[in-house]
Amino acid sequence: MTTGTSAGAGPATGTARLHVAEYLDADLDAERWHCHDCGQDLGDLRGDYKRGLLVAERDPRDIHPPVIEGEYTFAPDGAWIRIIEFYCPGCGRQVESEYLPPGHPLTQDTALDVDAIKARLASGAARIDEHGKLVARKVSGQ
Ligand SMILES: [Zn+2]
Repeated sequence: MTTGTSAGAGPATGTARLHVAEYLDADLDAERWHCHDCGQDLGDLRGDYKRGLLVAERDPRDIHPPVIEGEYTFAPDGAWIRIIEFYCPGCGRQVESEYLPPGHPLTQDTALDVDAIKARLASGAARIDEHGKLVARKVSGQ
């Protein structure tokens, strides 16, 4: 298992990595999504990272079992809603989950303006800190 994204540099290439979400990094130089834990390549940074993950569809009653007996049990109806779980193909870490009606297309919850971020980094208006976070540079005199 590789790590090393905390310094803002990818473990294999030494390129700048932005820590986007708990288990999701963005390699801005290679323009690829990566698992934060193991570094697994998850696909084109300009596309949906979920396309690079393993998907499991679960009946919501597995997660929210009935709490009372009878017709209405407070358990979600699996005919109306599904829990979609996303896992890293490299390390098996659950990266994301969402509740969707059966058959609903996957949602895209994260999209970066890659060109704008790269421009800010190139101009010095921002930098990636030791935690992988994008930090705006302070303008002196303010
Ligand atoms: Zn992983």
